[in-house]
Formats: sequence, structure tokens, C-alpha cells
Amino acid sequence: MANQAFINDFKALLGAENVFDSEADRMSYSYDSAVLPAVMPAFVLRPTSTEHLGLCVKKLYDNGIPMTVRGAGSNLSGGTIPDVGDTVVILTTGLNRILEINVNDLYAVVEPGVVTADFAAAVSRKKLFYPPDPGSQAVSTLGGNIAENAGGLRGLKYGVTKDYLMGIEFFDSTGEIVKSGSRTVKCVTGYNLAGLITQSEGTLGVISQAIFKLVPPPKASKALMAVFANVQDAAEAVAGIIAAHVVPCTLEFLDNNTIVRVDDFTKAGLPRDAGAILLIEVDGHPAQVADDALAVEKVLKENRATAVHVPKDADEKFKLWEARRMALPVLARCRPTTVLEDATVPRSQIPAMMKAVNDIAAKYRLEVGTFGHAGDGNLHPTFLCDKRDAEEFARVEEAIDEMFDVAIKLQGTLSGEHGIGTAKAKWMEKETSRGTILFSQRLRRALDPKGLLNASKLVGI
Ligand SMILES: Cc1cc2nc3c(=O)[nH]c(=O)nc-3n(C[C@H](O)[C@H](O)[C@H](O)COP(=O)(O)OP(=O)(O)OC[C@H]3O[C@@H](n4cnc5c(N)ncnc54)[C@H](O)[C@@H]3O)c2cc1C
Repeated sequence: MANQAFINDFKALLGAENVFDSEADRMSYSYDSAVLPAVMPAFVLRPTSTEHLGLCVKKLYDNGIPMTVRGAGSNLSGGTIPDVGDTVVILTTGLNRILEINVNDLYAVVEPGVVTADFAAAVSRKKLFYPPDPGSQAVSTLGGNIAENAGGLRGLKYGVTKDYLMGIEFFDSTGEIVKSGSRTVKCVTGYNLAGLITQSEGTLGVISQAIFKLVPPPKASKALMAVFANVQDAAEAVAGIIAAHVVPCTLEFLDNNTIVRVDDFTKAGLPRDAGAILLIEVDGHPAQVADDALAVEKVLKENRATAVHVPKDADEKFKLWEARRMALPVLARCRPTTVLEDATVPRSQIPAMMKAVNDIAAKYRLEVGTFGHAGDGNLHPTFLCDKRDAEEFARVEEAIDEMFDVAIKLQGTLSGEHGIGTAKAKWMEKETSRGTILFSQRLRRALDPKGLLNASKLVGI
């Protein structure tokens, strides 16, 4: 139990400055970026060395105390809200060292609390490239990125976090260190436990170190903004670009509501009367970039783009891309509650999905702003509402139920990148099967027999 003597043991181990047990501190770690009720943790531990991280896990295990690991808490599915009970939060922000960037063998070794954008910048200073770039990269941690298998604006061409993970070290629920993968491109020593831990949302182990693949940066790139009178034309252009077998590194979508709200806030000079815009970037060898840009422009025009704008310099491009990254924070300012969804469909089904989202929002009389990684089929319909208005919130929940039914019917998925946590657990079986839930629960119970690691998340235990 979390009595004072027990807390004092951790203070002796980690230093009092790394154990937070005041009411205000506990409240700070009782919620995350999902729209879910807060739950107070018993206390919060912030180890600053891998050894201390392992000792924390072991002591909590030995005493049967539930634990929730937390990076930046930027996840959108409730993954870091403590479980009800005496849960202790283990914060990884004190484990924020980049241990190695190897420019000859193209890999880096990191601790889990390194902030994604800091890592990408450090890699870039060595003239290499770490592509995964979640919209939250200014705050999110690499441990959180692995545990959620985060994607980003460059996912279409460069893939997501799992595509860069070469190796991992983590503590199992008992505090025993487990290692999988290596600094080599090939490694088939034992089970692919790095794959198992990826996307496991803090339920199978506590990540203490990771080895990431790095790549040479592209030699050239070209950015375009395409303007459309309506959402359907933009959605058809996305399907057209993919069907033309061009793979842009970025292919992002914003609908009118999002454009206007973001432009009000950022003054980025977005076309406020557009039904939708696409932000597109092609990159690679200069000759390939020129060919791909021409091919993309042709598809855009065939799909009724009313204008195709090329940013005049890096500053203007940065402003446009920043406007896209600001979509969620800006929409979140508009009403007391923001319900951000993550339904993802095969790319050819984007026109059908966009039509369904707008029809469903109209049917339930809800305001929705949709933006997202259109090239990945990964849309973020964002319902703006007020959770305190029970009648309105009931309409939001019905709309989301209906939206997931459509996504699944279109052979899509509940979540392209935000994870299941507790927010989407009730829909898991709908997309998968009863057997999937039972199998996953058996796996969890075998690896975490006391049920201490983020017990209520994903499929439960
Ligand atoms: C404005 C905004 C934009 C976003 N854009 C994107 C986007 O473009 N793409 C995308 O994929 N996501 C996006 N997200 C969601 C979120 O940022 C990502 O899921 C991110 O990977 C979470 O990182 P974090 O450090 O905040 O993890 P946290 O939220 O702290 O934790 C997430 C999960 O990982 C587990 N975890 C954290 N660290 C560890 C560890 N060391 N060991 C084991 N488990 C661990 C936690 O228990 C939890 O289940 C966005 C969120 C916001 C608020």
C-alpha cells in the first residue's frame, strides 16, 4: 500500500525531488489528452537512470502496486490515466539522453523520455534523417511513440515508428530486463519482442532503451498547396494521386471548418473560402522530385483543383505545415469539449468516408472539423461539443458509433495512430473478433500475472 514509509523508500532511492506525492502534483498526472474523467494516482516516480527505473518496477511488483508509465501524456486515448486504485505513475521524462548517433552504421540509441523533435533535430545536425513526425513531436517522447506506434505527416512514404525500431530494452512487470533486436540491420535472435512491445500501450513492459534506424535525408523536395471547392474533389484527388503511383512524403487534408478556424488563429493566409485544401510534398532525387511534382499537379487539375500554390520559400512552407500541425489545438479552443477521432480507411475509400462523416455530423446536428493524413487514409474528424450538455454529448456518441460502423464496413480501422487505451476499448471486438480479445488477455496474464501494468487499457486483463 502507498503508506508514507513506502513513499519514503522511493525518495531515498530517487531523491525527494523525483517523487511527487502532493495533491497538486498528483492532480497534474491524473489526466492526459483524451476526453475522459481524471483519476488521481497514489504518487508519481521520476527515475533518472535505467537502473532506478528497473528498481522502481521491481519494488512496485513485489508490493503488488499497479503502475502506469507516462511520457508526455499527449496520447489521445486515455493510455496514461491511472487505473482506479492505488496506481503509481512512472514518469520517463528524466530518462532523456540520446546515448549514441552512429553516422556510419545509421542508427541511434536513446532513452525513452527523449522528446521526438529534439531527437529529430539532433539527428539532422549529424546530416541524417529520422522521419516519424507526429503532430505532437514538440512534446511527445520516443517511448510514448513506440508504445503507441505513432505516425505523422511523413507516414505515407516513410512509414511509422515501428518501421524505424531496430531494437529495444524493457523491464517486464517483475522488473527483469529484456532485450530484443540489435544495432545490425539483420537480427533474428529470438522472438521479435520489439514488435510485441510496439503499440502495446504500456501493458506488456516498461521501455528503457531503443535503437532506431536512421536514413540519409532526401536531396530535394517540393511542396504544393492545392485548393478545392469541396471535400469530395479533394478526397478524389488523394485517391487519384495514389492510383497514379506517386508516393508523396506528405499528403495532408483540411476541410473548410478547420481551414477557417486555423487561419483565424495562425494568420497563415489559408484560402478561407476553399471547401478543402491538400498540403502535398514530394521529395527524393531532384529529377524524381520534378517528375513527381508534375504528375501530382496533373492529377490535382484532373480532379478540379481550383488553384495549386507553390510556397515561395522555406518560411512560407513552414507556416503552411505549422498551420496543419495547429489544426487540433486550434479546434480544441472552439468549444469546451473536443472529441477527436482517428478512423482510417483504405485510401481509395476516402471519398466515401468523408461523405459519411459529413452526412453523420449533419444527421446528429454536430459541428465537425476534419483534417488528417489523407495519404494514409487516416482522417481526424473532430467533433466540437460540450460534454456538460448530456443531450448533445449523447448525439456525439451516437455519431461516433455510426462513424466506426462505416469505417469498418469500408474495411478500415478504429485507430490509425492514436491507440485504443480505454477510449476505444469498447469497439475492439467489432473490428477484430472475440478470439482476438481472449488471446490478447491470455498473453497479458502470462506476461503480467499480477495484472499491474496499465491493467484497464486495451483489452483489459
Ligand atoms: C496535438 C496533438 C497531435 C498529435 N498528433 C499525432 C500524430 O500526428 N500522430 C500520432 O501517432 N499521434 C499523435 N498524437 C498522439 C500522441 O502524441 C502520440 O500517441 C504520442 O506517441 C504519445 O507520446 P507521449 O510521450 O505523450 O506518450 P504518453 O501519452 O505519455 O503515453 C502513451 C502510451 O504509451 C505508454 N508509454 C509511454 N512511455 C512508455 C514507456 N517508456 N514504456 C512503456 N509504455 C510507455 C503509456 O503508458 C501510454 O499507454 C497527437 C496528440 C496531440 C495532443
